[in-house]
Amino acid sequence: MRIPARETLSRSGTLQTPVYLDHAATTPVDERVLARLVEVLRTHFGNPASNTHAYGWAAARLVEEAREEVAGLIGATAREIVFTSGATESNNLALRGVAERYAGKGRRMVISNVEHASVAAPAARLEREGWRVTRVPVGPDGVLEPAALTAALTPQTVLVSVLAAQNELGTLQPVREIGRLCKERGVLFHADAAQAAGKVPLDVAADGIDLLSLSGHKIYAPKGVGALYVRRRDPRVALSPLQEGGGQERGLRAGTLNVPGIVALGEACRLARQEMAAEGVRLARLRDRLLAAVTGALEGVHLNGCPRRRLPGYLNFSFAGVRAHRLLGALTVLAVSSSSACSSSATEPSPILTALGLPEELARASLRVSLGRFTTQEEVDFAAERIVAVVTDLRREAAG
Ligand SMILES: *Cc1c(COP(=O)(O)O)cnc(C)c1O
Repeated sequence: MRIPARETLSRSGTLQTPVYLDHAATTPVDERVLARLVEVLRTHFGNPASNTHAYGWAAARLVEEAREEVAGLIGATAREIVFTSGATESNNLALRGVAERYAGKGRRMVISNVEHASVAAPAARLEREGWRVTRVPVGPDGVLEPAALTAALTPQTVLVSVLAAQNELGTLQPVREIGRLCKERGVLFHADAAQAAGKVPLDVAADGIDLLSLSGHKIYAPKGVGALYVRRRDPRVALSPLQEGGGQERGLRAGTLNVPGIVALGEACRLARQEMAAEGVRLARLRDRLLAAVTGALEGVHLNGCPRRRLPGYLNFSFAGVRAHRLLGALTVLAVSSSSACSSSATEPSPILTALGLPEELARASLRVSLGRFTTQEEVDFAAERIVAVVTDLRREAAG
């Protein structure tokens, strides 16, 4: 991938361009989170495992406070939170850690066909090691039908792993129904909530979730920190570590803790919990405004994913007759992505969109726009105006 020069950041009127509308890929660090991060980096450098002096005690206390905040966001208890380097590690730990401990029950796992690579790849590895992995297809709206999941479960099924919100579409899965189905059959349920946590309410008790992954950099904390929730009762989930050493995190994830990152994650979770309701309303309004402006001005706009069950702030649309890479090439004033941006070449249709049964022409023409905490109405209006102008130009060019 070609990385443009730094000088491409500039201003257009009062806006800094490109306007950042790719919050599904990563979010900027919130200033309030940054303040905690800097404070810890500057002042609390102790190793939380050092229990012989105040430097260690202070660091350990900060970590435990952060653990409470992360747990609080998802209705867990602090002892059920394991800090990791991000959702990729959490997902790998959940799948491989469970697989190792429960292989005796049966070697079957069920996932959806729209999982993030950090679930799909460890599942594929387990398959090569002799596990049976069933990939339940989602419907044309990107939502998993609980009945389809039920049909895939067998008495040998150890784990179901379904992402709470799909990263390319923003589509929300019926987590609570899935949790209930899994409970009824004594199957463990892991939810990759990297996109959902902090944006929509999640409650591991009410939702019947046994393992849950989340990531700092999707919720305005820095990259390189995340967490895995591991249920401790009803049932107590057994897990094998991927990384061994000094026995940190109750032996589940060895390595000196990333104290600044963990404190930042805790603060990000606290803020998300506090602001989720109001922010969700604001983002949904901006998203609908953007969608209305684009569909009001253009024919042949296809909204991908479920129009109702979706994260606030996320839009994935396809424009008939326009290729995503041409669209992105012409939309340099917007930092947006086509669904396939990071997983494959620009001309390959996104496997997620093809999984929805979208015709190849539309799958190749998708644009993901994801708004965030600092997105303004001015930015949204600018984005709508640019998208309409560029699509109109490209279509005119194709016709002429
Ligand atoms: C971003 C993301 C991940 C990976 O998270 P990292 O913290 O970047 O490793 C996993 N799953 C989903 C759904 C994501 O959006």
